[in-house]
Amino acid sequence: MNSRRLYTPVRVGSIELPNRLIMAAMETGFCNDTDSLINDGIIEYFRLRAKGHPGLIIVGGGMIDPDNRAIKDMINICDDSAVEGLRRLTDAIHAEGTKCFIQLLHAGAYARSEVYDGIGPVAPSEVRSNFTGEMPHELTVEEIEHIEKLYAGAAVRAADAGFDGIEICANSGYLQCQFLSPVTNRRTDRYGGSLDNRMTFLKETLSAVKEAAGTDFPVSVRLGGNDLVKGGNTIEDAVQIAAAAEDAGADMISVTGGWHEAQVPQVTPDVPAGAYFMFGRRIKEAVTIPVTQSNRMNPQLAEQLVENGVVDMVTLARPFLAEPLLADKAKAGDYDSIRPCIACNQGCLDNLMRQKPIRCLVNATVGFEDKYVKDGVEAGNIPADVPLNILVIGGGVAGMEFAATAAGRGHKVTIWERTEKLGGQVNLAAVPEGKRSYIELARYLEDSCLRAGVAVELGRKADEMSVREALSSGEFDKIVFASGARPVMPPIEIEDGAYVLQAWDVLAGATVPGKNVVVIGGGAVGVETAIHLASIGTLTPEQFTFLYRNHVESPEYLESLLYKGCLNVSIIEMTSRVGRDIGVTTKWIAMSNLKKYEISQYKNSKVIRIAKDGVDIEYLNPEKEGESPEVKHIGADAVVLAAGSRAENEIYERLKNENGLADDLYAIGDCSRIGKIIDAIADAYKLAVTI
Ligand code: SF4
Repeated sequence: MNSRRLYTPVRVGSIELPNRLIMAAMETGFCNDTDSLINDGIIEYFRLRAKGHPGLIIVGGGMIDPDNRAIKDMINICDDSAVEGLRRLTDAIHAEGTKCFIQLLHAGAYARSEVYDGIGPVAPSEVRSNFTGEMPHELTVEEIEHIEKLYAGAAVRAADAGFDGIEICANSGYLQCQFLSPVTNRRTDRYGGSLDNRMTFLKETLSAVKEAAGTDFPVSVRLGGNDLVKGGNTIEDAVQIAAAAEDAGADMISVTGGWHEAQVPQVTPDVPAGAYFMFGRRIKEAVTIPVTQSNRMNPQLAEQLVENGVVDMVTLARPFLAEPLLADKAKAGDYDSIRPCIACNQGCLDNLMRQKPIRCLVNATVGFEDKYVKDGVEAGNIPADVPLNILVIGGGVAGMEFAATAAGRGHKVTIWERTEKLGGQVNLAAVPEGKRSYIELARYLEDSCLRAGVAVELGRKADEMSVREALSSGEFDKIVFASGARPVMPPIEIEDGAYVLQAWDVLAGATVPGKNVVVIGGGAVGVETAIHLASIGTLTPEQFTFLYRNHVESPEYLESLLYKGCLNVSIIEMTSRVGRDIGVTTKWIAMSNLKKYEISQYKNSKVIRIAKDGVDIEYLNPEKEGESPEVKHIGADAVVLAAGSRAENEIYERLKNENGLADDLYAIGDCSRIGKIIDAIADAYKLAVTI
């Protein structure tokens, strides 16, 4: 039986929230006009999530200063013309019985001058930003007071637009943090120096907001529990900041991790669930107002933390992108039907970092609400006009996403999967230690297929005859090829007796002999496979914890064994960049792991021969253009190929132009075009809601 306190009301200042699961502010990039006003797409996005009844939705970050933006397309709350659209938004959310705040965000030094026509980054002091590389303008006292007025004006607009409260963004390294931190605040006036002085801007902001919008207008302050920046604020400082915020009128403290520039993973798949909950626990001990905690949370963990009084509420951001109805489903204990956020960042944060609207790897409707959502109803929930019998060839993510969605619309769907297990390539993607969360996607899709009544035939291989027979017999009306891809064998001379295998084989569990391994190909698959190989023989987290707790060896020695495995691993990459297809929010972690595991990288290097004892390469020094390449031999006992993949689509290609067949055949996922999981799911959903 699940715990219940998470689903009980909680008071935040003058209002009561119906439950304690909060949807965090997260930029969407959907306000694509130059004036950043609310549009129908963003209303549908929030309406859908309001239908799932989280205790509170925090919209935002809201742009309080048009001259300083976190991203180009923030939500406008800085001018009066925005109020009408914002009121349409709050009306849509309230109509579903859900409350909403808007977050007020000033980016300060985190604003990138190249993405909009503003005055550029500003900050308490002239300290170059580690996040943007830009030198900010140091704010004068008059300019600081002007920004405080911008907060107050935005709070009044929020109240006028019908928001139930606001949140002040004092987290992740934005302007409020820059004032709070001794690293970025070097001022000697009342805004700088001691922590008490560094809190002046936050305290004055809170006073200005309360004075303008009314003392009973609820205000949340979102804080980092630790900046995770060298010389920055720690949890003990955060405790004092939270207490000061309460004294200055804050009604709730929302706790998260560190700054965007922190060199500590905070929201990636390698971060264990709830890793940062101790920040919220510590802050809750120091304040009397409710405290909510976020970062890699899930409903079951939220239930536990709230039940035990560790925090009062739990805040999630990306899980609400993945699953709009998360709160209602969790409350019903229907966890298996929650579409899981796998923390990949590929659709959401990676897009935001590139100034693009968000998408979601596991939920194809995100970013396409104008196409797939109408009045809060997803296209996948609208019954098909004519129910069909559909055969899906291939049970990877594309096949399962299509099958579950199409069956949910009333089609009768059968999957033929040639192996004994559903999941396809996602089963391999989930093998590297930091990516175990990917297996949740396979689990969810398989479960969705079963719930939708999809018939699954494992070990059933399709060939041309069986496909023709499936259609001509009338058993199936349509056939969808989702047969995936297979790894490419590059045209390289291989000496007899050389031990060569594909990265997919390694990830599937093949043993690699010897001591030295060379991985050919430095894309995402090559990098992840190399790290996986290098991690063989290192201490697992469980082993480390056991040995550490029992003082078996010194902490330093044990720590060194976290990265010292059995194999010496090298990567050979033809271009000048390793990991070029890894998203920006996770690439730095992969690159850091290559260093920690001491994986050698040979860039600008072409493999000319694989021998029994290693690999011959031609190294082209980019600084010596025109010169002959240098030939090198890299010793290896085994060679792993990660040279890409090609579509497994021969049957489809042979049949698709035949008269009488063409209209009944479709191809999705890698079988149609080699892409990422996000593309496969998007393709599959698109077909499933139109067929
Ligand atoms: Fe989660 Fe990935 Fe979707 Fe972002 S794109 S919400 S991280 S599943």
